[in-house]
Amino acid sequence: MAGELVVVAGGGGFIGGHLAADLMRQGFRVRSVDRKPMDEWYQVHNDAENLVADLNGIDACRQACQGADQVYQLAADMGGMGFIETHKAECMLSVLINTHMLMAARDAGVQKFFYSSSACVYNGDKQVDEDVVALKEEDAYPALPEDGYGWEKLFSERMCRHFREDYGMYTRVARYHNVYGPFGTWEGGREKAPAAMCRKVIEAKLTGDHSIEIWGDGKQTRSFMYIDDCVNGSQKIMHSDSIEPLNLGSNELVTINGLVDIVEDIAGIKLDRKYNLDAPKGVNGRNSDNTLIENEIGWSPSIRLRDGMEKTYKWIYDEHMKKYNGKVPQREAAPKGAHVGKKATAAS
Ligand code: NAD
Repeated sequence: MAGELVVVAGGGGFIGGHLAADLMRQGFRVRSVDRKPMDEWYQVHNDAENLVADLNGIDACRQACQGADQVYQLAADMGGMGFIETHKAECMLSVLINTHMLMAARDAGVQKFFYSSSACVYNGDKQVDEDVVALKEEDAYPALPEDGYGWEKLFSERMCRHFREDYGMYTRVARYHNVYGPFGTWEGGREKAPAAMCRKVIEAKLTGDHSIEIWGDGKQTRSFMYIDDCVNGSQKIMHSDSIEPLNLGSNELVTINGLVDIVEDIAGIKLDRKYNLDAPKGVNGRNSDNTLIENEIGWSPSIRLRDGMEKTYKWIYDEHMKKYNGKVPQREAAPKGAHVGKKATAAS
């Protein structure tokens, strides 16, 4: 209801910044909380209450949840494959944020709690072929999630379940499949494929070196959800009767090569592709089966990849110009991938 106080944990991040903006447009009072200094937030909304706090600690979580009616828990240490395959402990430490936010929200009498889980919870054995069968919610078990990041997400999903069952808390969980759009990470090592491809194509244009490095063989398949669909779907899940985790993603499947085709087309350029088979590439194929969310809450994605990528490319181009004024900085080489050439296993 308009006027209610809604906490967006991770509000300085990509999805949190967009969600906070949308909630304020609807008349909610918003408290955005993030660990980063405010000049690093992707969006700072002056009409929101903006709080810099490290939500690993219970005291900060209590401060964040005080007087709140709803909580969207989006704060996490995360990034694209280049980050999560090389920072597993850091990813797992987000369990502190989720544990403490659940405890603080319970104790503060928060009415509704939303948790942003991930498609990385799905069993690796179901994602071995590029020729994918889209992932259904039941495919998370038996558990064999992405090492590190995925295990933490699956564990925290279950904490939401048990806080609901044992303490009567209202919890809802979305399993986001790759989200992209403006006001997100596009350089620095945590960026995901859509933003990374935009940046690489922009830099190829600027330098005149018309080549592009692709992680893996480019045949990996994925789906990518535009941020507006994510913001809308998250709120639908929050206010739905669906107590089990729901996929929130696009089902427009594309290969990484196909994604590069799209960005090349937007930029009006053709590049020579160099495949780095040692770099992190994630699972071979992943798509979202949206049957359950369509049936339960009537949500489906509305923005085509080509259209969303056009907006994203333009935003990254403008950011690049603002920051580097047409020059291209030295970029670090790709890290080595953890699961190259083999499927993710519990021990790998
Ligand atoms: P993001 O990195 O842009 O935002 C996360 C924010 O959390 C960051 O601003 C970060 O500073 C903040 N944060 C990290 N640790 C914190 C702490 N201890 N205290 C306070 N703030 C802290 O990421 P995003 O893309 O906006 O993702 C939001 C959520 O959605 C995350 O939980 C992520 O795991 C999940 N998710 C995202 C995607 C995607 O494609 N973007 C896919 C699946 C799941």
